[in-house]
Amino acid sequence: MRLYEYHSKKIFQQYGIPIAKGRLTTSACEAKQIAADLGGNVVIKAQVLATGRGRAGGIRLAKSPQEAEEQAANVLGMEIKGYPVRKVLVDEAIAIDREMYVAIIIDWIAKKPVLITSAEGGTYIEEIAQQSPEKIKKIAIDPVIGLREYQIRETAAYMDLPREYWRAFNQIVQGLWQAFIVMDASLAEINPLVVSSDHRLIALDGKMIVDDNASFRHPEFPEMLDPDLMFPEETETRKYRFSYLKLDGNIGCLVNGAGLAMSIMDTIRLYGGAPANFMDIGGGASADKVLSACKIIYSDPDVKAVLINIFGGLTHCDEAAEGILRALEEIHPRVPTIVRLAGTNAGLGLKLLKGTHLIIAETLLEGVHKSIAAAKGEWNEHID
Ligand code: GDP
Ligand code: MN
Repeated sequence: MRLYEYHSKKIFQQYGIPIAKGRLTTSACEAKQIAADLGGNVVIKAQVLATGRGRAGGIRLAKSPQEAEEQAANVLGMEIKGYPVRKVLVDEAIAIDREMYVAIIIDWIAKKPVLITSAEGGTYIEEIAQQSPEKIKKIAIDPVIGLREYQIRETAAYMDLPREYWRAFNQIVQGLWQAFIVMDASLAEINPLVVSSDHRLIALDGKMIVDDNASFRHPEFPEMLDPDLMFPEETETRKYRFSYLKLDGNIGCLVNGAGLAMSIMDTIRLYGGAPANFMDIGGGASADKVLSACKIIYSDPDVKAVLINIFGGLTHCDEAAEGILRALEEIHPRVPTIVRLAGTNAGLGLKLLKGTHLIIAETLLEGVHKSIAAAKGEWNEHID
């Protein structure tokens, strides 16, 4: 789950990282008031879960409350990379001497968190990383020991950060590490971390990605979630605890087990098809669970065919079949559905499905071929 800038910076502040004063609002009129409270010189920042707001025009400086109101009205009417701007942060404007980059991220290859820093930060960090990779320093962090002071000093030296800022820099990086750990984050990024012209280090932007799997110990996670910005199906699946991800293809997939689901998606791609989603309903697929998963998949207008592949282990195929039957009754699917059952009680399950319009496949590969054909409209013999 990605967190908004205003959430991320609030968290950073709790861990001792200096941020600019400011407030969140949904109205231009209130932006004017906030700007007045902050002394008039402010920056209006679109709160959307997209990167590169600056380049997209979502970050505007204003020199007076009046101007703040105008700019807030402009930004609040914008759409950035498909996200409508509903909230803006009105922050006191900081006069910047220098912009740097500091982030802690999980390096999936090193299997460790790493501290990534760059002497140059800001809007062009991707270009800097590509064109001058030597400007970027990475330090692997031992998750048990944490960040050591010498590592942070080494980083500060590499960045040519003047000595007078080292103590503050140390505190910021340690704070970022604490926030990263406590929040179960996979990313905690400050871009830019600035040296202000009045000689302070300030986190001007903040970005965090936290792991939904840790939701059980974070009662604050749901509050930070914006249901507005998720596909409705994804909100549904949180309720049922499926792993669901909408994709851009047209073959709906309903599978028990993440590995199996991925193999099926790969196989569909291999033979020229395109999955409409990833859906892992997990183990012990009861009829109820299968029914609610079917509802999600069939309600996707992009879906032109559905492939249900249940591998019975702990899951009983006859129970899954019952769920499928109930789905047929309740939903009356408008698209062809291919079913493959294997493993525990597969025979019983298939018996239950006899007499329906479902297209049965014996093997996974057969299921994939039939669903690709069906999605192209080339498999109609079993359908009314
Ligand atoms: P992003 O484009 O989504 O990463 O948004 P940022 O919050 O990082 O802002 C983009 C750029 O706007 C920064 O790199 C700064 O150059 C500039 N900016 C943001 N806040 C301020 C501010 O308070 N004062 C000044 N002068 N520039 C700012
Ligand atoms: Mn930024």
